[in-house]
Amino acid sequence: VAEDQRFRDDRPRSMEATSRATRTMPRGVPMSWMEELYDHPPLWVSHGAGSRFWDLDGHEYVDMYVADMSAFCGHAPAPVVRAVCERMEAGNQFLLPSADALVVAEALAARYGMTKWQFTLSATQANTEVVRVARARTGREKLLVFDGKYHGHLEPTLGVAEDGRVMPEYTGLPAEVTANLRIVPFNDLDAVERALAPGDVALLLTEPAMTNAGFLLPDPGFHDGLRELTRRHGTLLAIDETHTLVTAYGGLTTEWGLEPDLLTVGKSIAGGVPLGAYGMTEDVASTLRPPADGAAVSGISYDEVATGGTLFANALSMAAARAALTEVLTPEAFTTTASLGGKLAAGLRAHIDRAGLPWSVSAHGSHAFYFFSPQPPRDARGARDTDDPGLRALIRLFLANRGVWESGWWLGPTVSVAHTPQDLQVYLDAVGEFTQALA
Ligand code: PLP
Repeated sequence: VAEDQRFRDDRPRSMEATSRATRTMPRGVPMSWMEELYDHPPLWVSHGAGSRFWDLDGHEYVDMYVADMSAFCGHAPAPVVRAVCERMEAGNQFLLPSADALVVAEALAARYGMTKWQFTLSATQANTEVVRVARARTGREKLLVFDGKYHGHLEPTLGVAEDGRVMPEYTGLPAEVTANLRIVPFNDLDAVERALAPGDVALLLTEPAMTNAGFLLPDPGFHDGLRELTRRHGTLLAIDETHTLVTAYGGLTTEWGLEPDLLTVGKSIAGGVPLGAYGMTEDVASTLRPPADGAAVSGISYDEVATGGTLFANALSMAAARAALTEVLTPEAFTTTASLGGKLAAGLRAHIDRAGLPWSVSAHGSHAFYFFSPQPPRDARGARDTDDPGLRALIRLFLANRGVWESGWWLGPTVSVAHTPQDLQVYLDAVGEFTQALA
């Protein structure tokens, strides 16, 4: 209560903006709101630079949430700012391709090992098309996802597993959502096999490591099993790297040598400027365009797969992505963030040990998550069962009141390209103060 009061008392401008916003926006400013999930009122931002941002009341924060990974390039990354300004001056929207699209598609192909790419404005829209293309390619309707998933608010995935059944995750959804969706636990190959066995699943959509239920790492051999089972049952495999692309150059797909049929990216890929994209194999791409030899995929009419949008691949997004991919998200940048990420995980573990707390840390590359259990769970049920939302809310408030922003939904700290060892020290000192107080 004291931390909550301090948060409110110190931020009169944010509080005033919040009450004013409710007059015109029934759920506040989308996605930045979520008061009921974060357990504190929204923070209104003024500006950001590198690893830090400032709120309307002038408070400075070391940003460890990095906008749910979408600010992984840092705030106002100079090459992206330059590219965006130049593009705006030269015109940003033509509904005609700009040359940057070639650079971006080729850079994504080289980085993620998928030869063909389509652009959208967000990862949600990319996953929406991934699902549609997979259904068109296979002629099947069912989808398989893992419990605890989040791939955006795309309707076909908005179900939850309850007592062995799939239920609509929200109100306002049609019954087909549950009829076409199967949900099984992460790291459970037997359950995957049972879900695929009827031979009616178009697509298995998964993150390589689950980031929206803590940070769930795959068991050794899990991804090999997924690939083998999906191939055996004629199901396409899509890897959603929207979050995990911050953990390794080329994402975990490249680092772990995964072989998906489709791959989604978004968020940080254009320095936070709206852009989503999905890559696919030549075989899947043949669903969208007849192969050069003219041998069409049987049953597909090429104008029938709905893709595209007026602003998709607009010149501004493409300029931002070109700058982000070629000048910010470089191999050297990933070497640095992975090294700092290693120190982040080690620092968290040291504070947990020193305070004698029965917590554990799951980490890879630039990202980490602390669980309130002695071992990291293997699936979302384990994560939910051992979580303490009240304690997590208290940590967020405590850190915010000490100039560190880690507030988000089920997401732990990430070091961005702009973070320095000094930033990390500020974060770890605040965490240490909290764990000592708790102890
Ligand atoms: N995929 C994953 C794994 C995500 O975590 C998210 C958002 O958090 C999305 C897709 C959707 O991204 P966006 O909201 O930018 O469309």
